[in-house]
Amino acid sequence: MKKPPGSSPLPPGSTIGMLGGGQLGRMTALAAARLGYKLHVFSPEPDGPAAQVAHRSTVAAYDDEDALEAFARAVDVVTLEFENLPPAALELIQRIVPVHPSAQVLRVTQDRLEEKTFARRLGIETAPFAGVDSHGDLEKAVAMIAPPAILKTRRFGYDGKGQARLERREDAARAWRAIGEAPAILEGFVDFALELSVIVARGQDGAVRAYPAVENRHCHHILATTIAPAAIPAAAAKEAERIAVALAQGLDVVGLLAVEMFMTPDGRVLMNEMAPRPHNSGHWTIDACPTSQFEQLVRVAAGLPLGPVEPYTPALMTNLIGHDVDAWPRLVADPTARLHLYGKAEVRPGRKMGHVTRLKRQP
Ligand code: AMP
Repeated sequence: MKKPPGSSPLPPGSTIGMLGGGQLGRMTALAAARLGYKLHVFSPEPDGPAAQVAHRSTVAAYDDEDALEAFARAVDVVTLEFENLPPAALELIQRIVPVHPSAQVLRVTQDRLEEKTFARRLGIETAPFAGVDSHGDLEKAVAMIAPPAILKTRRFGYDGKGQARLERREDAARAWRAIGEAPAILEGFVDFALELSVIVARGQDGAVRAYPAVENRHCHHILATTIAPAAIPAAAAKEAERIAVALAQGLDVVGLLAVEMFMTPDGRVLMNEMAPRPHNSGHWTIDACPTSQFEQLVRVAAGLPLGPVEPYTPALMTNLIGHDVDAWPRLVADPTARLHLYGKAEVRPGRKMGHVTRLKRQP
């Protein structure tokens, strides 16, 4: 049954549907349970991190229309933790039950060219960029955007996958082959001082809350640590938060929007990419804020008021990647470490197995 706009919140006991079954879904399920909601996971992967702690799970492909329809009929609202979903899946579900965020938001955020074009339209600064559909386009783009530059596939890129760096114009042919000759975007290389992100929650009523800007440090293109809040000039932090809120409002996001940005040595803030879901750089909010990013998503999906975001304390989040997780006996015995493990049976290089949050002060 579709919830009419302006209707009362979903009562505890209701079921939130979650597209995607990884650790982001797992932590959302835990937050949902705390508020008395059930989570029903839809994922092609059996016994994934989310399914292990969810009330129900459907194991099916994202293009299995019968499974999607049965899922939509079994839940009260749908949200997602994974954005590379076929828009047709969301459109099908949207006809049966509300989906937050909408298929329209995904259409923009799934595509690097669309999202940067959208940001520019709002007057938000980005790296110089150009769309590339062919080797000829790339030659033209390289003439316009002088290397160093990065060629990225428009879609399905994450953790540095689908990217090739061009040091010189002559690298164009190699880079074009390296990304599989897929529709792409060429971006000028930003000589940044550090990488930032801001997570914004936006409710069904348009209310907005932004977590403070954090600094993200990557290792081999994978997030390694998040420093919360970022130790940057107040004006840059304010600008990062302004950008994230403007994007969430401009896109009419209902849910979360995580915006990754670069800060230049002179304090300018450039938007890099965004994702309409919980984000690895917001995991620290579980331990350091009165409302975590996951609880905020549950609140939005259920039509509850947003919770307060002001952190109790600065925090440092470290990802446990691959065999980092073997340190769990030491970490779980360390009174300064808050250990979160995702229930993944198999350790693989580059796989996010868990994270640790360290708080500056105990709340
Ligand atoms: P992305 O998938 O766009 O987040 O890119 C992965 C990482 O590559 C970023 O976190 C940056 O460290 C780096 N990167 C991406 N785009 C640029 C750029 N235009 N200039 C400099 N570094 C970049």
